[in-house]
Amino acid sequence: MQLRHPTLLTGEQYAATQAWRGARLERCPNHPDGGCSFARHGTYTRKTPRNIRVARWYCRESHTTFNLLPDCLAARLPGTLDTLEKVVAHAEQSESLTAAAKALRRDAVDLPGAIRWVRRRIRLVHRLLATVPDLHPERRRPRAKKITALRARLGTDRALTTLRRRLAPQLPALPMPLGFQHKMGHDPPPPSA
Ligand SMILES: [Zn+2]
Repeated sequence: MQLRHPTLLTGEQYAATQAWRGARLERCPNHPDGGCSFARHGTYTRKTPRNIRVARWYCRESHTTFNLLPDCLAARLPGTLDTLEKVVAHAEQSESLTAAAKALRRDAVDLPGAIRWVRRRIRLVHRLLATVPDLHPERRRPRAKKITALRARLGTDRALTTLRRRLAPQLPALPMPLGFQHKMGHDPPPPSA
């Protein structure tokens, strides 16, 4: 199960300061009155950013692992929300998907693979923008359909991490890579890089 580790750090800062060491989960979410063997269960490593780890707890009685995902990391997708946002913002302003893929994936050996990589991220983020609640519904504005529009509206180039923090209570019901909704069978498996 994914839970939040509230933090303002970027992924690189989180890795450099080993901030997962400060993550705390006082009680078992499945047994808030106690009585189970709930305990810290080490960390797991994510490939990007380099040297980043996520703190884990485990409850044996309910066979549940709890991952304290820092606000900077995407859920069920490699990398940070900031990086994802940069990719999609770049793609939205590119003249074509091919141009975006060439610019964003200079490391890629095959262009079709790079295009799929970019397209998947655009699709995930745009689907998210069509789903997330408006932070200021009283202003009655049309929904921001693009990340560049949301950035302008929120006045930040960390729009996704801002949403992660401000929509914290709703994360269990929101789709990845922002939220922690666990939906079976709909998403393609996450890529390995
Ligand atoms: Zn428990």
